[in-house]
Amino acid sequence: MGKRVIILRYGEIFLKGKNRSYFESLLIKNIKFSLDRLLGEDGYTFKRSQARYSVEDYDELKEAEIVDRLTKVFGIHSLSVATKVPSDAQHGFQAIKDALAPLAEELEEENTRLDPTFRVTVKRADKRIDIPSYEIAAELAGTIFKHSSFKVDLKKYDYEFNVDIRETGDAYVYSKVIPCAGGLPVGCSSKGILLLSGGIDSPVAAYMMAKRGMKLVAVHFASPPYTSELAKQKVRRLRDIVEAYTTKMKLYVVPFTNVQLAIHEKCPAEYMITIMRRFMTRIATRLANMNDCKAIVTGESLGQVASQTVESMTSTESTAGLPIFRPLIAFDKEETMDIAKKIGTYETSIEPYEDCCTVFLPKNPAIKPRLERVEEAERALDVDALVEEAMQGIEVL
Ligand code: ATP
Ligand code: MG
Repeated sequence: MGKRVIILRYGEIFLKGKNRSYFESLLIKNIKFSLDRLLGEDGYTFKRSQARYSVEDYDELKEAEIVDRLTKVFGIHSLSVATKVPSDAQHGFQAIKDALAPLAEELEEENTRLDPTFRVTVKRADKRIDIPSYEIAAELAGTIFKHSSFKVDLKKYDYEFNVDIRETGDAYVYSKVIPCAGGLPVGCSSKGILLLSGGIDSPVAAYMMAKRGMKLVAVHFASPPYTSELAKQKVRRLRDIVEAYTTKMKLYVVPFTNVQLAIHEKCPAEYMITIMRRFMTRIATRLANMNDCKAIVTGESLGQVASQTVESMTSTESTAGLPIFRPLIAFDKEETMDIAKKIGTYETSIEPYEDCCTVFLPKNPAIKPRLERVEEAERALDVDALVEEAMQGIEVL
């Protein structure tokens, strides 16, 4: 009764010109990364023919999960689950008709429209079949009539039944087109280092940058014993969820307690947050250089809290040896939360574990810290030694 096959479509725009094969090789690598985790390398076949990819020979019981994974791979724009049958032209396309019948019945059952309409679209790459596509389509429409109440409308149709007859003599029969993540294949836009807290914003920032093709390495600052092992595990789980989009994302955990204690002890409380952020950026820059990252990524949003004013960001920026990307800079919290829900990080993010930033939170942080003042306050610290010590204690998850 035909074999199930998933057809993948990618955006043509970014595949033009000389970068095409580079983009494609990244995309294929990322698709395989995502499927290998679920099915194992031998649990499916990946096929590539001209401008189409397909995933075949998989365990059909896992189909929903496979589709879910593929919808998260950046660079894929849409997909369809098709039935692959021999075109069987000699027998009046009987195999295709047999594949169309249940499809029509399924759509009939789901249908909520009044007077639903359809068309059959045939693409005939197999030129051995000497019947024009529209004639094949008319023939196949008969099956839809038999198995649904739909009427034909070639222009304004509610449902399209697609039949791709390939040169190989196989026909791919499908109707639904499932929109996927779009964007660019991860890896095509260089690498960045993500400051990953346990909050709502930074996982969304990861998603946003990955969407534009940036590969990420993550760093989390932990302050044991003020922050717990559970808080760390939460960050690891957030990483695992977001990897569906970012592909593999290494996670560094930096022991930050001594840096915070030193600031707390030696610097004015109002600059606590700014100076702490300056240390985060310094350490992130060191890790960036070790990992060939070209940018720092954070989940900051303008005006969200005291540490996210232009002045604050300016004071933080001077310790970064790289550009800082803040993909959520102009997002309302609501908008960010919507994305967090969509990508599946929200529920984990709102689990109530303490964050290193809140541990030493001053009552009245400077909202518009002046850089000179901050630098002056920082002179009380042995910056290099503190950074070095934190670097020594780094753990990779
Ligand atoms: P988030 O929800 O991402 O934690 P937030 O609204 O709580 O953001 P802040 O806590 O001020 O805002 O953090 C701003 C950004 O700084 C975060 O999005 C993240 O990129 C980075 N950051 C904050 N705390 C940490 C941490 N403990 N480890 C790594 N990065 C952090
Ligand atoms: Mg936070």
